[in-house]
Amino acid sequence: MANRYYTQVTGCLFCRIVARETPADVEYEDDLVLAFKDIYPKAPIHVLIVPKHHVTSIQTMTAADVEAIGRCLLAARTIAERVGYGERGYRVSVNCGEEGGQVVPHVHFHLLAGRRRA
Ligand code: AMP
Ligand code: ZN
Repeated sequence: MANRYYTQVTGCLFCRIVARETPADVEYEDDLVLAFKDIYPKAPIHVLIVPKHHVTSIQTMTAADVEAIGRCLLAARTIAERVGYGERGYRVSVNCGEEGGQVVPHVHFHLLAGRRRA
């Protein structure tokens, strides 16, 4: 079952993962957010956290996206705690736009842990 924005963005890889049309190793889900393991992990813990509805990037987000984006950060904390890095520490990063290193144009937070300066 696709989310309500999905039909507008059928080409988006992360929308397809949200719609369960492309497989992913899901780590966390709530009504607004999905989190799944990065397919090419750059640290022992590397999870991508996305709003379930399509938002291209921080550059294009609007006030309507604020709740879901904020929930992504709460999800990052929840996942970090679950995998034992809440107190030890972790990194949350977001790339924005081509020169910012964003490859997948559906906003996502990288949760990285288990490696210093990951
Ligand atoms: P970014 O460069 O910030 O756009 O990050 C995109 C991330 O998506 C990279 O770390 C990729 O390894 C990851 N990625 C690409 N395709 C998939 C996929 N099918 N499932 C999980 N992660 C993916
Ligand atoms: Zn999307």
